[in-house]
Parts: sequence; structure tokens; C-alpha cells
Amino acid sequence: MKAVITGGAGFIGSHLCDHLVAQGHEVIVLDDLSTGSRANVAHLEAHPGFRFVHGDILDRDLVDDLVAQADTVYHLAAAVGVHTIVDNPLKSLRTNLHGTENVVEAAVAHGVPYMVASTSEVYGKNDADGLTEDSDRIYGSPTKSRWSYAAAKGLDELVAYVHGTESGVPCVITRFFNIVGPRQTGRYGMVVPRFVDQALKGRPITVYGTGTQRRCFGSVHDIIPALPRLMATPEAYNRAVNLGGHEEVSIKGLADRVVALTGSASPITYVDYEQAYGEGYEDMQRRYPDTSLAARLIDYRPTRGLDAIIGSIVDHRSAPVPQPV
Ligand code: UDP
Repeated sequence: MKAVITGGAGFIGSHLCDHLVAQGHEVIVLDDLSTGSRANVAHLEAHPGFRFVHGDILDRDLVDDLVAQADTVYHLAAAVGVHTIVDNPLKSLRTNLHGTENVVEAAVAHGVPYMVASTSEVYGKNDADGLTEDSDRIYGSPTKSRWSYAAAKGLDELVAYVHGTESGVPCVITRFFNIVGPRQTGRYGMVVPRFVDQALKGRPITVYGTGTQRRCFGSVHDIIPALPRLMATPEAYNRAVNLGGHEEVSIKGLADRVVALTGSASPITYVDYEQAYGEGYEDMQRRYPDTSLAARLIDYRPTRGLDAIIGSIVDHRSAPVPQPV
């Protein structure tokens, strides 16, 4: 089988490359290296089943040409990270809206089953105790920059879903809940690699807001095997499926854990949201996944707790050679 992975040089995409190549599949990566890195897939470059294409998902002809060669498409390319979205709102919208349209339309045109990666961000400010796939979306004002990402990814889901139902081409939408692990960069937001880097460098740990906001971090190693399994499960077609972990922590609690696990002398400092992200930023207080649908469909059971996840990131920072999943 041959898979096209858009965003395959990114954090999640590169782990998916490892997994599929290890299973004997051929992989073509399409990545513009805007937030991804060639280093994430450098260990695969000599593999005969692996090909890297440097290009943009906004390039319709290129997307069409690559998708036409594939048996499956995993669409992971996106403008991601709160800092990316806030700093480059227009480019982010274009990539996330039109890029996804290009990929989905190519997949449908060639009859190639496709997965579109989405995000828990689509639930917006809904802080229900266990967000199910049917939970409501609650977005703030359009003048608050962060919601443009949620709105765009929500539309991506619709593009995927409507094309999937109208064409009959298998389509799976995965909603990732704060997935973290080795190779994730903190440069564009993402709190866990930021805190780990700050702790290892002895710099202040920057907790934004009060630090009472809560997140549930999931391991990339838990979610990757779930992706091809969902693609092979007809009951998963034309629906969104939550994927994430189950250990919830406050951001202040996360900072304490990172300091303890790294033995760092870094102090914890509190930074106003306005200072961190600019004017008009709005955070969400809580985001906790209900993953019972994935459990029922593919027996998805996340096994890695937060300490193990932080430990794997620390190990990777100390020995930065990408390891296969
Ligand atoms: N955050 C923080 N310090 C940082 C980066 C992020 O306290 O250096 C906070 C951020 O405001 C949010 C949480 O950590 O409350 C998770 O942020 P991230 O960008 O990783 O994910 P998301 O906001 O999309 O859940």
C-alpha cells in the first residue's frame, strides 16, 4: 500500500511515517517545511519505500499528482500552534481552508480513502467533563484571534464529511486532544516542549494566565497506531473520532511536574495572556476527551501517562536521534 502523508515532516506526521514504513508500506511525504523539519524524517530518507516532496498543499496540481499515486491519504498538514495562528492569521486560514479543500477534492476525484486530522480546538470553550464527538462547539468573538483556527478546522471537518458522504469515498476525521511527544517543537506554542526546553536550559517556566487552566495531554505513541486502524474500519467512515489521553493536569501542575522530572532549578513565572499572545486573546479553561467511540471502534486504550510522556520528550532532547514508533 502507498500512503501520501501531507505534513509528514511534522511532529505527528513523522511518527506516522515511521509506523507505516515499519509496516512495509510506501510513503510519500508532502511538506512545505513551514513548521515541520527534514530532520524529523532524515532517518527514513534512504529507505526505498520513502519519498519526500517539498511542496505546498495550496499547490493544487502537485497535490492532485501525488494523491493520484496513493492508496490512502493522511492529511496532517496545517498551520498549527497558537503563536502561528495569532501571528499569521491570513496565511493560516488559507492553508487550513484551501489546503484541505485541495487534498480532499483530489482524494475524492481519484477515489482514494482519506483521513483529515482535526483538533479538540473545534469544541472551543466547551469545557464539559468528557467531550464526546457530538458535543457542541462554543466559539468566542471573531475578533479574538484564536478562534480563527477552531473555525477553520471546523470547516475542514465539514469539507471532509460532505465530500465523503456525497462521493462514498471512505473518509475519517480524527480529533487530536493536545497530543505531545518527541519531535514536537515549542516554537509555535505547544506548552509541553516549551516547558521541557525551559527546564533543561534553566530558564524560567512561563505559565500563561493563572495556570489553573487544565489540559489532558495524549501521547503521540498512543494515537499513531490508531490512524491506519481507523482507516480500515468502515464504521469509522464519515465521522469524527476523538483521540487523546486520560490524565488531566493544570498548567501550573504541569510546570511542577516538568521541574521535578528534569531536576531543574528553573523558577516558575506567570505571564499575562496579553503579553504572551497579544491583545484580545482568550484561553479555554478545560478540555477533556471522551474516547469511548475510539475504544468501541478500534479498541483504542491510551497507556502512557503524563510522566512517561514528559520522560520521552526529555530523553529525546538529550539524544536527538528520531526513533521509530
Ligand atoms: N501555555 C503556557 N505557557 C506557554 C505556552 C502555553 O502556560 O509557554 C498554556 C496556554 O495558554 C494554554 C495551555 O498552556 O492554557 C496549552 O497551550 P498549548 O498551546 O500547548 O495548547 P492549547 O492552548 O491549544 O490547548
